[in-house]
Amino acid sequence: MNVPLLDLKPQLDELREEIIEKVIEVIDSTRYIQGPEVDALEAEVADYCGGAHAIGVSSGTDALLVALMALDIGPGDQVLTTPFSFFATMGVILRLGARPVFADIDPVSFNIDPNQLEIALAQDRDRRIKAVIPVHLYGQCAEMTKIVSLCEHYRVPLVEDAAQAIGAEVPFSRPGSSPAWRRAGTLGIAGCFSFFPSKNLGGIGDGGMVISQDPDMAAKIRLLRNHGAYPKYYHALVGGNFRLDPIQAAVLRVKLPQLDVWHAQRRENAHRYDELFTASGLLGNGRISLPRAVFADQAAKQTKEVNYHIYNQYVIRVQERDAMRIWLQDSGVTTEIYYPLGLHQQQCLQPISSSVPMPHTEQAALETLALPIFPGLTEEMQHHVVQTIQAFYG
Ligand SMILES: *Cc1c(COP(=O)(O)O)cnc(C)c1O
Repeated sequence: MNVPLLDLKPQLDELREEIIEKVIEVIDSTRYIQGPEVDALEAEVADYCGGAHAIGVSSGTDALLVALMALDIGPGDQVLTTPFSFFATMGVILRLGARPVFADIDPVSFNIDPNQLEIALAQDRDRRIKAVIPVHLYGQCAEMTKIVSLCEHYRVPLVEDAAQAIGAEVPFSRPGSSPAWRRAGTLGIAGCFSFFPSKNLGGIGDGGMVISQDPDMAAKIRLLRNHGAYPKYYHALVGGNFRLDPIQAAVLRVKLPQLDVWHAQRRENAHRYDELFTASGLLGNGRISLPRAVFADQAAKQTKEVNYHIYNQYVIRVQERDAMRIWLQDSGVTTEIYYPLGLHQQQCLQPISSSVPMPHTEQAALETLALPIFPGLTEEMQHHVVQTIQAFYG
């Protein structure tokens, strides 16, 4: 049996006619730059996330880049982030001439460890850290109550890399107030999303969005997205071409109303893996461990369904990861490693890297394995995945 890591076909089949109709509408409108589809998607994503302002951009990477540009990050500055993320999180920092500094992850959630974050901020005596970028890895939010409180205490702007986590919810509270669920991207000065096709909300090409609760920040990002021009042909700022394609916006608008259903399907698949692995007897002897949804217990107390995890990836830890991956591939099961190397270990960083060890990240890079989790994955396929893993151990 073949089990792909990701099959976009089931999702496409649900909406194919509507998508094609909308794409043709954009083509026939002859409005190929910006326009009503982009404006409408911005309003809908702002509404979905609970963000005040949303600015469509060309990719998740450009969302991060333009957010840092709006904060005037540049040479001499440092940006504090997690070493366990997709390269773009660090790439944008380097491209602006700034230096990434890292706080290691929590080995349970794979997200930045607030205690490590605190140590890094406290050590920054000459205040060179000009932004903090937590990443909501695999679709689960970082510990935002602590992170927001630290960023406020040290007065460092917070930019969320929510590329894998659109719609993910996190219990958030300020001192003295009771926690409320907030959506990823709404807790800092900017939240960055990606519409790369493999994300939970994916286009038919590249796309991204920045949301912000701050009107001045939003206005600046809006200018930077289009060369910093205001009015047209007058440039107080140097921006770029970071515009979102209206064809992508039109497709995403068809998909957005289905997003919570797809999130729920991914959670259902995750539950099924949890049950199958528990029944398999493979757990508890240190060979395999399953992903922990750290906010699930709190979510279970709610009357409505909460996106406590959107499972963009379902990532297990395996001692004999590389051998297991080959074994699975030989049985038709495609998996992926997110990520095989910490950002702090990347070669492009070596001339400037301070070579501070990041033990939890380095271990995660050796042990993590993402299993297929997409909506449309069948029960049979999941049985096949778990049985193949059982067979690996004989
Ligand atoms: C996908 C991703 C990005 C980049 O998004 P693109 O749309 O591919 O440019 C950035 N950060 C993280 C964590 C991602 O997963």
